[in-house]
Amino acid sequence: MTSSFHDVAQKLAEAGRRFDARGWVLGTSGNFSAVLAHMPLRLAITRSGTHKGELTAADILEIGDEGIVVRGDGVPSAETRLHIEIVAARRAAAVLHTHSVWSTFLSDRCGDRGGVAIEGYEMLKGLSGVTTHEHREWIPVLENDQNMGRLGGVVRELLAEWPTCHAFLLRRHGMYTWGATLAEAIRHVEIVEFLLESVGRAEYSGLAKVEEVAPWRS
Ligand SMILES: [Zn+2]
Repeated sequence: MTSSFHDVAQKLAEAGRRFDARGWVLGTSGNFSAVLAHMPLRLAITRSGTHKGELTAADILEIGDEGIVVRGDGVPSAETRLHIEIVAARRAAAVLHTHSVWSTFLSDRCGDRGGVAIEGYEMLKGLSGVTTHEHREWIPVLENDQNMGRLGGVVRELLAEWPTCHAFLLRRHGMYTWGATLAEAIRHVEIVEFLLESVGRAEYSGLAKVEEVAPWRS
């Protein structure tokens, strides 16, 4: 368990450097977790207040299913509850959360319609289970909330309502995605951020309007 925790911590730190280099986790924003064991749950998760571009293994904590720290010093991310909800709902091996400009822009632009509809992009095939650019991905948007107990309940309902979505946005806040492995979750961050930036730039430049793609729900 010691070597696997250390290995996971190193990989989360490496993900932090990659995402920071892209400007997706500026300041001390964002948080990352990876499952060490499901039953009982043991989660490696970033410590609160850490700069994700400067993470070391010492900035990764091990917590149980109630968010209690069982290894390492410090307080786990304020959004730990959301990670635990996603792991439980999706049986995810890793959950990654970013605060990019384009996810923030589109979360607000599409907040009133409840989500961002993306279709026709080759990069959609980077999402787990997607085999064609004709796939239509709906990325739901939730209102932001500082009450993590309440927001955790809303996230649980959202994931039940959208059983095949690969990510969701918190309005004016950022993006959550996950994967069956940590590598898959990292790939999903890169794919979803690429897609959001592509849709956001098209919207911003007037080339295409988000309203032109009908929302999933009518
Ligand atoms: Zn956040």
